[in-house]
Order: sequence, then C-alpha cells, then structure tokens
Amino acid sequence: MSNTPSPNRDLLTVVGARPQFIKSAAVTRGLGDVGLTQWLVHTGQHADDDMGLDFLSELGVPPPDARLFPSHAGRSERMADMIAGVAEEIQRVKPRAVVVYGDTDSTLAGALAAHHAGALLVHVEAGLRSGDRRMPEEHNRILTDQLADVLCTTGPKASAQLVKEGVEQHRIIEVGDVMLDLALAAKSRMAQAFPVAWPEGDLPVMVVTLHRPGTVDDPVLLEGALSAIERWAQKTGGSVYFPVHPRTRKAMEAAGLKLPVQAIDPGPLGYLDMQSALARGTVVLTDSGGVQKEAWYQGTAAVILRSTTEWRELLEIKASVLFDPAQLAVNSAAADLVEALIGRPAVPAVDTSGLFGEGRAAATLLHALVDRI
Ligand code: UDP
Repeated sequence: MSNTPSPNRDLLTVVGARPQFIKSAAVTRGLGDVGLTQWLVHTGQHADDDMGLDFLSELGVPPPDARLFPSHAGRSERMADMIAGVAEEIQRVKPRAVVVYGDTDSTLAGALAAHHAGALLVHVEAGLRSGDRRMPEEHNRILTDQLADVLCTTGPKASAQLVKEGVEQHRIIEVGDVMLDLALAAKSRMAQAFPVAWPEGDLPVMVVTLHRPGTVDDPVLLEGALSAIERWAQKTGGSVYFPVHPRTRKAMEAAGLKLPVQAIDPGPLGYLDMQSALARGTVVLTDSGGVQKEAWYQGTAAVILRSTTEWRELLEIKASVLFDPAQLAVNSAAADLVEALIGRPAVPAVDTSGLFGEGRAAATLLHALVDRI
C-alpha cells in the first residue's frame, strides 16, 4: 500500500494485467476533458510482471498511484490479498466510483472490494461471454457483471446478452470498445514506423501471440502449434513474427522446444509496434482476447487458437476462425491448422461496422459516468 496521503479522487481504477493497463490508458487520457480525477491501483496480479507499466508511459498516462504485493502462494491467497488491498485503497481514497476492466482475477477482486465497501461499481467490457466455463475469465466476467452497478458494454451483442440474463436496462451503457479508440488512433502514427526487427522484403509474415495456459503449458499442444507455424513458413516461404510471452518462453524451455528457424522473436512489443505488426502481417495466429480483435481493427485476418471466444462477432463477420488447440494432440492436425492459416479471406472494413462502436468509447464512457456518479 502507498504511504502518500491520498487526496479524494472521483474514480478508483483497478488494473493488474497487460490488457488492463492498455484499456485504462484509453480512458485515463480523457479524464481531464470531463473534469474527473482518478486513483490507479495496480494489483500486482502477476508476481514478476510489470510489463504493463511501459504501456502507460507509451500511451502518455501517469504510473499507478498504488501498487499491491499479494501473496502468490495460490489463486485463493492471491485473490484474498488483492481484495483486501483494494478495499484498503477504497477506504483511503473514498472514490465516487470503482472502475474495473475485463475479466481477470484483478477485475473480480476489485469488484468484490467495491461491493463490500458499498462503492458504486463500474464494469468496462461487461456482457461478454465465451460460454466456456473451464476458463476462469468466464467466471470472473459473470460474477463481476452480477455485482456491477454500471455495466459498460462494447456493442449490441454484449448489451443483448445482459438483457437476456435479466440485467435491468438502466444499468447498461453501450459505449463501444476502448481498444478500438486506441487502435484507430494508432493507425496514423504507425504508418511510417516498422515494428522492431520486422522482416525485410515482401514475403508473407505470420504474426503470432500465444500465452494461454491451456495451450502453452501442455508440451504436446505447444509442440503441435510450433510445428504448424514451421510448416506454414515452409509452405509459403514466409517468416514468422512471434513476440514470445514470458510464460510461453518458460514452457518452451521446460519442454526443450525451440522456435522454428523462420521465426523472429522481437521480445515483448510496445503498443504501437504491436499494432503496426498486426497491420503489416499477412495473417495472425493468436490465443489472446485482445489481439484477435486488434487484428481485425488493423485489417488482418486471424486464426484464434481457442475452442471458444468471447468476441463472437469476429466469427460472424468472418474476420477470424477458431481452431481448437486440443486438436493439436493429434499429429495430422498441424496440417489442418496450416490450411486454416493459408485460407483466410480479406476482412471486412471495421470503421462502419458498428459492432464495437465508432472509436469514441472512452469519451462516451466518461460522459456517461459524469451523469451517473
Ligand atoms: N500486446 C502488446 N505487445 C505484445 C503482446 C501484446 O502490446 O508483445 C498487447 C496487445 O496488442 C493487446 C494486449 O497486449 O492490446 C493483449 O494482451 P494479452 O494478449 O496479454 O492479453 P489478453 O487480451 O489475452 O487478455
């Protein structure tokens, strides 16, 4: 807990994982326009992961006001410490609302702490459902939506889902996707810049991000994915641009697996480099929630290495297809994955789709909050 005396702030925002730093930055940038103040709490959800802090400075917003150091003995211990830590911050700051993003354990910890304190709870990215109850994120989403007073959705599908589940209309605000705001803003800035270590020439490039425990912690599935990546490169003569996540690197080392020779690992990328890579890539292979959507935002088709997705809109408009990683336990499946990667069609235009707003989600959200808190 921070020792500095805490002035009262309008919002207490809870973040703890890479995508939350990025989403919160989109909103933080607009706070001054509506005259709101914020206290940013970093839960320390990942013991040695402060990757998110770089995003805040790259996106031009200040570092967190408080950083928690929860136990990492187990998920329950960590959750308990994060709830208690956020609760303490709420008590000190006395915000008019607590804001949580997405579907991580930090999201649920923030939601429970706000609920216990009787604080108004705002959930950004409410109403998303993958339908896969094996994913901890699915439980985090559903529970946080149950607790939230203000549910900010990314689009009509998420809003309809909440109505279907019996959430009263007055609790739902359809604001759009704050990540679309950032992705559109990045387009003009990244036009000149190539991402770090981007392959030279005009050959195809597959952009890969993999970090889900369900895939990378299983050596057989991880080997299958790497084999498919290599076969794609052999078949197309292209290269693979693969910023390897620390978790995936550890898993590869433990299993004695190496990247294919055609792969470049530039290390964890900054936000603009990542967007630029997605825009320049021929195709994207990912198991990330955010990247599957950003691939479309940047005009590139994706294969999602998961059996379900909470962004079902992407499947409906054929910007992405799912490929169940469990299939990779069978040797011949790598060839099917290569076919899926090669067969991706051009994606439809994003700007006019209305699926995730028009790129003004942060401003819409902030104006709505001014009215509600
Ligand atoms: N990201 C990035 N650099 C990287 C990998 C990811 O900027 O090297 C960004 C990515 O563009 C997206 C976010 O991090 O905005 C997604 O994070 P991640 O895939 O870790 O989480 P998920 O979305 O699956 O929860």
